[in-house]
Order: sequence, then structure tokens, then C-alpha cells
Amino acid sequence: MIRDPIPWPNGARCACAITFDIDADSLIHISKPRDGFDRLYPISMGRYGPTVAIPRILDTYRRLGLKQSFFAPGWVMEQYPDAIEAILAAGHEIGHHGYLHEDPTEIGGAEQRYWFERALDVHRRLTGRLPRGYRAPVYNANGATLDLLVEHGFRYDSSLMADDIPYRLATPKGRLYEMPVHWGSDDWPPFAHYPEIGYMMPVMAPSAGLAASFEEFEAQYEAGGFWMAIWHPFLTGRLARWRVVERWLEGVLARGNVWFATLEQITDHLDGLAAAGHEFRTERLPYYDKPVQLG
Ligand SMILES: [Zn+2]
Repeated sequence: MIRDPIPWPNGARCACAITFDIDADSLIHISKPRDGFDRLYPISMGRYGPTVAIPRILDTYRRLGLKQSFFAPGWVMEQYPDAIEAILAAGHEIGHHGYLHEDPTEIGGAEQRYWFERALDVHRRLTGRLPRGYRAPVYNANGATLDLLVEHGFRYDSSLMADDIPYRLATPKGRLYEMPVHWGSDDWPPFAHYPEIGYMMPVMAPSAGLAASFEEFEAQYEAGGFWMAIWHPFLTGRLARWRVVERWLEGVLARGNVWFATLEQITDHLDGLAAAGHEFRTERLPYYDKPVQLG
């Protein structure tokens, strides 16, 4: 059960968003700054995303009439402009995902601002606009991240996990919507095998790995909620996995009462509800202002 479910457009039972984080090979460069540029296997594994998987994913979206959201680090956007152009030309959304996938909690305030704003400049240059949404690399947003989002007029974050459905973040600087993520519908745990950055998990079969995301959908559908996949083109955009997704999508769309939309479109809808008096659950931040004192 979901308390205070959000009414979706046209009586849809569930709002749905497949979000793809186009990390490409940023991960190896940020994690191995000394010699990442010459580690060819992880570079090629990442390049598969923008060069092979994105065209495949966009074909499916075109065929099924879907508009969806992508998040990309600024460096990836500069490195793979064709993929970015194809995404934009098809009417999809691109959100902010750092510059070189730097972890906000690993860098200090001034440095965090520098990379955040450098990525914003890339968005301005390559998309002609500022992004409305943000997802922190490895979900690692901190208070300074939220401040930057408010300061730069972002409408939503999609890095936090405090509810099943979109909610509000109220910070001392302002408000944002949160489009909540969680690991259950993220493709990293079942599919990422990446010893160079510390992941040595057994890779699951396509249908078994994706079953986690699909079960999350069924629960959200039943409860009238919000389902969001957090996937990566170089993982779920691989041939056999995407084949499973395509067949699943066809089945879900055939039910007819789901609303697939970009996160920006969902934000527009939330704004409309707020204007009509709908109250969203609000999480007030900061959660804590100092380390927990023991003893
Ligand atoms: Zn990422």
C-alpha cells in the first residue's frame, strides 16, 4: 500500500520512467587517473553504451512511441556528441550526472562547485538549455549538492531513497522534487562485473537480472505508484538484455493504463497537482547538522 498516492494523467495506474545513466568510460578515467586512458577493455566496455546501445535503445523508443530520460556526465557528452544529438533529436531528456562521474562526497565544496558548473556549461553548449534534473554519480548527493541544484534552478533530484513515489525535498535554500531511486531497480548489482573499480559480482542471466526491476514494477502498478528503472546502456543495452526489456515493454504497454514519461514531464505534472492543492510528502534537510555523538 502507498499512502497518499499521486493521481496520474488520464487515470493511468502507474507512472513509469526508464532512466539510463550514460556513464560510458568515464568510470575508468576517474578511478584510474594515472593509466585509465590506456586500459582498453574497460574503455571499450564503456564505449559500447553511447555507440552501440544508445542507437538500439532509441530505435525501441521510436517504435514504441516512448520519450524517456537519460543522465550523462558532461565529459561523456563532449566525448560522444552523436549519441547526445540523437537523444535530443528524438525528444528525450538529458539530465546532469556530474562532469567525469566524480563522487560529490569525495570532493570538497569548492571543487564540487567547479565540476558541477563545468558540466552545466557542457549542457548549455550541447543541448542549448540547462538541465532540469540531476542524478548524483553513485547516488552520492550531499547537502552541498542540493544547494547547487536549488541555486541553479533545478526542478528535481533523482539520487535519494526516502519514499516509493516522488516527494519533496525542503532544504534551507529551497525546494526540489525527489524522483526516488533504489537499488532494487538498478541494473548495477545484477549485471556489473568491473574488477578495476571493485565490483566482482557474478553476472546474472538477462531475464533473472531484469526480474528484479520487473517485480518492482508489478508492486508499483498494483499500488498505483511510480516505477523507475535506473539502468546503464553498457549493461542493460547489451543485446540479450535489451531483447528481454523490449518484450517486457511490449507487454506492459499492451495493458494500456501506464504512463511512460520523462522525469521532466512527471515534474510538470507534479507542479500542476501542487497548483491544484495537492500536498506532497516532504523530507526536510539537512537530516543532521553534525556527526552523531556516541557515549
Ligand atoms: Zn553513473
